Amino acid sequence: MSRVNVEHDLRQTLQTSTKDIKLYIDGKFVDAESKEQFENLEPFTNEKINAVASGQKEDVNKAVLAARKAFKGEWGSLKLQKRLDYVYRIADAIDRHVDELASLESYDTGLPIFLTKKMVSRASRNFRFYAEMVSARMVGDAYRVDDDFLNYTIHKPVGIAGLITPWNAPFMLETWKIAPALATGNTVVLKPAEWSPLTADKLAQIIDEEVGLPEGVFNVVHGFGETAGASLVAHEDVELISFTGETSTGSEIMKNGADSLKRFSMELGGKSPIIIFDDADLDRALDACTWGIFSFNGERCTANSRLYVHESIADEFIECLKERVSNIKVGDPLDEETQVGPLIHNNHYEKVNSYIELAEKEGCRVFQGKVPEEYSRGHFIPPTILLNADNSMKVVQEEIFGPVLTVMTFRDEEEVIEKANDVRYGLAGYVWTKDIQRGHRVAQAVDAGMLWINSQNVRDLRTPFGGAKHSGIGREGGYYAFEFFTEMQVIHVALGEHPIPQFGK
Ligand code: NAD
Repeated sequence: MSRVNVEHDLRQTLQTSTKDIKLYIDGKFVDAESKEQFENLEPFTNEKINAVASGQKEDVNKAVLAARKAFKGEWGSLKLQKRLDYVYRIADAIDRHVDELASLESYDTGLPIFLTKKMVSRASRNFRFYAEMVSARMVGDAYRVDDDFLNYTIHKPVGIAGLITPWNAPFMLETWKIAPALATGNTVVLKPAEWSPLTADKLAQIIDEEVGLPEGVFNVVHGFGETAGASLVAHEDVELISFTGETSTGSEIMKNGADSLKRFSMELGGKSPIIIFDDADLDRALDACTWGIFSFNGERCTANSRLYVHESIADEFIECLKERVSNIKVGDPLDEETQVGPLIHNNHYEKVNSYIELAEKEGCRVFQGKVPEEYSRGHFIPPTILLNADNSMKVVQEEIFGPVLTVMTFRDEEEVIEKANDVRYGLAGYVWTKDIQRGHRVAQAVDAGMLWINSQNVRDLRTPFGGAKHSGIGREGGYYAFEFFTEMQVIHVALGEHPIPQFGK
């Protein structure tokens, strides 16, 4: 059978097997109380995939009640190892469905399938990683205070974790939050992004059928941000919100959660620089620069969307970049060879396109790769570079979140550091130089949460992930997520009869 037929069969299988989506509350798949639904569209064809129950305040209330009951009941009283056994079981169950989850994710988001397969594997690693970490860390510190006290700390789950997630890499980002939330003993209400509900629903099915978590421990309320999301944020009984999404949404969420004094983790937008000095390994820098902006269809928070290349090598570098851009394979996300797929949704496509139009008005020269003609129905934007850009332009200051690279040059270290820092975001940054002292110096001078020297965005689950400035508050990953999802308590034990002030004696 030819590859084309295999893809065709896969799409057909997905079309016929994908059923309408319900909410998952208290261990049951249910309609929204209002019975309302919204349409979920396929980015490649712009056709309807299925209808999704549109959760609202009353559904969020039901989910929070179920999560509260589970937290106070069976889940809350489980022994640590029993709880972690469930977490390992989720990882094993995901591993049994890698291909199915990856195809659903590509079908739903337009992300190329070679990537979604990797991300699904990473999702099961998230569960194993946090089960191991919690097993090692759920011990406190104890110390003596002179001969008077023994003080010790313990970590307890916080309660109900509200998780609100975006549509770019949805499954990986959801599990990146669900895993530490459950491993540390919380119960969860997940509000997935409305443009990418398929894998969150599949996860609920897998957990329901193959893991057998106690009812109410894991709940999924699909719906829009302004209704389902906002109700979760405002709910008095939800102790924390872990949010990944746009900076403006993060700010709105913090305002709405202020009355109930929630704890927040905010993973927000980015406009990250890649700085290439004249002594860099240009071949590797070119690989990293191309991958960093055009992988994930450019819909990547840590994308290196601002290129600063040293003026002495700029012409040569840009020529090579254009060649790469022309050769990137744009196509069907279900095709294993596709490198860049369609953008998630027509609204987002229009937004990215409007930035490209604006770039021309702002004085950029636009260079684009190719989209095969037969793909005119999908939301395809060809890999794009905006030449002659400068920091005063909106296209350099604002997050475009598509396959669009702004290109600028610099003369010296001081100038490039100033330019790199001259945006409101501070998520990531990349520095390319063979001068190791300069590499450290520049990386440390860039105002961002995560810097890579001579590398692309390689992640280790133990390291902190998150941004500075308008790119976020707090860190996820490793011990940082453990801290966020637990409440630390200190117990002071008197060892003898130390003096106590005697009022009114
Ligand atoms: P978004 O902010 O539009 O939506 C994210 C989620 O928030 C969705 O589930 C949405 O329904 C919900 N939401 C929207 N309004 C809400 C409200 N008022 N109250 C509660 N919930 C609400 O973001 P998006 O377009 O889905 O995702 C793209 C953005 O996410 C980009 O800015 C990207 O940089 C960012 N992102 C950041 C990271 C990171 O780790 N820093 C990772 C991935 C994506």
